[in-house]
Amino acid sequence: MSTPSAGTPLVGQMMDMPLLVSSILQHAARHFGGTEIVSRRVEDNTLHRYTWLDCERRSKQLAQALARLGVERGQRVGTLAWNTFRHIEAYYGVSGSGAVVHMINPRLFCEQVNFIINDAEDRVVMFDVTFAGLVDTLAPQCPQVRHWIAMTDRSTMPEMKTPVLCYEDLLGFEDAPYEWPELDERSACGLCYTSGTTGHPKGALYTHRSNVLHAMASAMPDGLGLSALNVIMPVVPMFHVNAWGIPYSGALVGAKLVLPGRALDGASLYELMETEKVTFAAGVPTVWLALLNHVEQAGARFSTLERTLVGGSALPPAMQTMFQDKYGVQAIHAWGMTEMSPLGTVCKLSATLAARTLEEQQHSLRKQGHALFGVDMKIVDDKGESLPWDGVAFGDLHVRGLWVIDRYFNHDESPLKDGWFPTGDVATIDADGYMQITDRSKDVVKSGGEWISSIDVENIAIAHPDVAEAACIAARHAKWAERPLLVIVRKPGGKVTRDEILRFYEGKVAKWWIPDEVVFVEEIPHTATGKVLKLKLRDRFADYLVEHAAAAQ
Ligand code: ADP
Repeated sequence: MSTPSAGTPLVGQMMDMPLLVSSILQHAARHFGGTEIVSRRVEDNTLHRYTWLDCERRSKQLAQALARLGVERGQRVGTLAWNTFRHIEAYYGVSGSGAVVHMINPRLFCEQVNFIINDAEDRVVMFDVTFAGLVDTLAPQCPQVRHWIAMTDRSTMPEMKTPVLCYEDLLGFEDAPYEWPELDERSACGLCYTSGTTGHPKGALYTHRSNVLHAMASAMPDGLGLSALNVIMPVVPMFHVNAWGIPYSGALVGAKLVLPGRALDGASLYELMETEKVTFAAGVPTVWLALLNHVEQAGARFSTLERTLVGGSALPPAMQTMFQDKYGVQAIHAWGMTEMSPLGTVCKLSATLAARTLEEQQHSLRKQGHALFGVDMKIVDDKGESLPWDGVAFGDLHVRGLWVIDRYFNHDESPLKDGWFPTGDVATIDADGYMQITDRSKDVVKSGGEWISSIDVENIAIAHPDVAEAACIAARHAKWAERPLLVIVRKPGGKVTRDEILRFYEGKVAKWWIPDEVVFVEEIPHTATGKVLKLKLRDRFADYLVEHAAAAQ
């Protein structure tokens, strides 16, 4: 018998259209043109409303204005901005024209913002008026920025030392028809920097292709589960990893967007959710903590909110239960990172899980979740060997996929190991494919060679009714090298003592996981993206146990 020959590959005969973010906006404008985008204005906190159709028209005007200012394809245009309609226009107007939108996190230290703007070589920076002071400080140190644009109209232009252009004036000059250019889908679309907890921040340069694929996959039912019927509020800032892709995925499904501007306190968020009938919201646990405190104190209810997506740091089970049991809101746990555009996993029920008891389901739904199509993951030991998916073995979490970083901006060396990106997180994966982060590798408490998950220790403390916030750090220990130290902020009026907290752990974890000491503080420091700043806590408390042991002798 003759073996069949390999033959000539047969080229498929379907249209070959590039995956471009401009096509997402075009779709929203053409097919959901009347659907609204509502924003809380940064200038005066009043509401602005318009539609996806208006949004496309103005994004095109922005593209034209930038071309008139000499911005070329591939050049970076920075934004220092909150979540509003103008920031959405920047996302689409800049990238759609072939330039690269660079979302700068204004909460970083001024030196870091300065470093980022210079590293990215931003040619233009657009900013909300609240950042006028920051821009005056930055401008003399950023000589390659040719234009600073205040994202407002003539009547609310800030008084500044720096010469700045007015966003609405620039758009007002442009009304000629504009066609989005047909770009290469692999060309750069957006740039985000990690918050650089150690060393300088590093840039992740997304492509049009990666952003479109991420939007499509994340909108799916077992991803964010988005639809045209949703009213979506991204509370996560648009400078924090593309607001988890919602400016793209929300447009892709033609949903209404509600953008909270800079008013991120519990009362303002709640009011906007109620008046605009928000059904789905996304944010980090610290923001939800403020919202829940407000709702609890006001004795209020959510009348339309159905689901919240929680990520950026671990969703405490106590918060998940509170959302679900007290308010009937599903809190969905998700995990990702800047280098992953950001979504890696979302935690939803699979058919296997749905067949189990309620308790088993709840246990699994606390984990960070299942990989979306487009992302693969594995856990490895110190030698890089894959570990079993048994929900017990934990190791370094490595990922690869369609929207995972290949190389950092302006860095030649590859961060990959055998084609996989090491996330810096430590995780388990169970037989059903549910991944659980046990820690960031640098936050793990290594007690006498055994590892203690700081997240697990924190989750128990947060379940105590008197505890508002908790952080577990590794403190130096004479015998065990490191032991867990718990730092706690009590709720207003909370009186819980050290001994009561320690007793609260009994029966919930192995004895040797129970923290050695508890320190009560007024406030826990946070990073620019709302995570507990453990580095700062370690600076302050790393020697706490050693010092107290010495004092006791
Ligand atoms: P940064 O390093 O700038 O804080 P990211 O916002 O990209 O950057 O954060 C990514 C990291 O945040 C992850 O590697 C992980 O440590 C943490 N993280 C994100 N989501 C979760 C989650 N659901 N549970 C625990 N940790 C999370």
